[in-house]
Amino acid sequence: MSNAQYFLEATYLIASILFVLGLKSLSHPDTARRGMIMAAMGMLAAVLGTLFHPDIHNYLYIAIGLILGSSIGIPMAMVPMTAMPQRTALSHAFGALAASMVGIAEYVIHGANMGGVKMGALGLEVMLGSLTVTGSLVAAAKLQEMMRGTPIMFKGQHFVNLGIFLGMITCLVLWLLNPTTAIYFYIVVGLAFVFGVMLVIPIGAADMPVVMSLLNSYAGLSSAATGFVLGNNVLIIAGTLDGFSGFILSILMCKAMNRSITNVLFGGFGAVVGTETGVAGSMREVGLDDVAVQLAYANQVVFVPGYGMATAQAQHAVRELGNILEERGVAVKYGIHPVAGRMPGHMNVLLAEANVPYSQLYEMEQINPELPSTDVAVVIGANDVVNPDARDNPKSPIAGMPIIEVDRAKSVIVLKRGKGKGFSGLENPLFFKSVTGMLYGDAKSSLTNLAQAVQKV
Ligand code: NAP
Repeated sequence: MSNAQYFLEATYLIASILFVLGLKSLSHPDTARRGMIMAAMGMLAAVLGTLFHPDIHNYLYIAIGLILGSSIGIPMAMVPMTAMPQRTALSHAFGALAASMVGIAEYVIHGANMGGVKMGALGLEVMLGSLTVTGSLVAAAKLQEMMRGTPIMFKGQHFVNLGIFLGMITCLVLWLLNPTTAIYFYIVVGLAFVFGVMLVIPIGAADMPVVMSLLNSYAGLSSAATGFVLGNNVLIIAGTLDGFSGFILSILMCKAMNRSITNVLFGGFGAVVGTETGVAGSMREVGLDDVAVQLAYANQVVFVPGYGMATAQAQHAVRELGNILEERGVAVKYGIHPVAGRMPGHMNVLLAEANVPYSQLYEMEQINPELPSTDVAVVIGANDVVNPDARDNPKSPIAGMPIIEVDRAKSVIVLKRGKGKGFSGLENPLFFKSVTGMLYGDAKSSLTNLAQAVQKV
């Protein structure tokens, strides 16, 4: 081995270790930031190492790629936190496009002379990569509301999808049996692009995070297959880590919503399924001073954040209000639902950014038993994750989804702008209960005003 090759292998080894350690550190909020840095360093090591690859003789195209990639990537990274899911979907699309293009290029260069195992890996790489490209683009379009967010369904859809899937697999097998017949290979690519679109259009925007982590998993497996084709160990390791962690994350999210993966993929959630409880009565509006008095004289206050806290960027304001209450001797806790917001860990990231101590963050299973003895539960822009219909109405489309049971608290204050529904599009009977008071307005200004009002009590 030449010195350059030793260097290449050493950087790949370092990169792989950093990826594994980075992923492990991401599992706890205390170490998550360090984990991100480690993973980014791993990626840098892998890219730097690859630049010493003996097959690279001309750096011009790499330089052009670097400039183009950076000029697209840097502005993409500047989007607000609330747009992060669609940004991530676009990243998956680009990553998968790269994997597919490498696969197609390898086939064009080497033709059928790669051996059975490599051909198999290449076929898988191109198939998974191509369907991830279009699937991720549709997911991004739905999340950005450039496309209808509700499921797009038509008669016989499952049969059409099954037909496309079987056609794709048949062509893949035919190509593997006759690797010189390029037409089968290109039909697989074409059908995979179509299948990606068909797979995602019937899924509602509320389920998109689960779909994205599944697509993430496919992109990872496609990269691992690329690693086999190119004989590149770091791609095999990173791709497999990505593939399986994405899959585990999808399962965890499904558990948190009490739904199966097949239900997410084929259920058309958000279309007309099940029935809502007919909600009678009206919502009771409360005034700022009234809420301030309740908070100031409470023994325990539990904040339950949701997507609205993210859009309002109210995390610093809630931390300030929490501090003021603590100074008055009130016990302050935060109840975190696993799928509050628009991505896993969304609330944890925002509250960590505002330096809310981890000791005050309680998972759903921990906070629910505390709610009956809680004086005030303050819902900050959350809706579906506190919807009692999920618990009480077996016919509700979200029946069985575990919720934070704020309605068991002595008093509930809901901060939201108006009568907007949750992401599932369902009405929330919580807002009509006698225990609930609605404080309308943007969550950030409501919390800032409450902090001032509590100080005057
Ligand atoms: P949600 O159901 O989307 O409700 C958010 C509420 O925030 C809305 O009712 C809205 O009402 C209010 N809001 C919006 N902007 C606001 C602002 N500036 N100030 C105050 N209120 C504001 O949120 P969620 O309870 O967090 O539920 C998350 C949903 O996403 C669930 O359906 C979950 O299943 C789904 N999901 C999440 C994940 C994940 O990984 N997190 C994964 C899959 C699915 P107004 O318009 O009236 O203000």
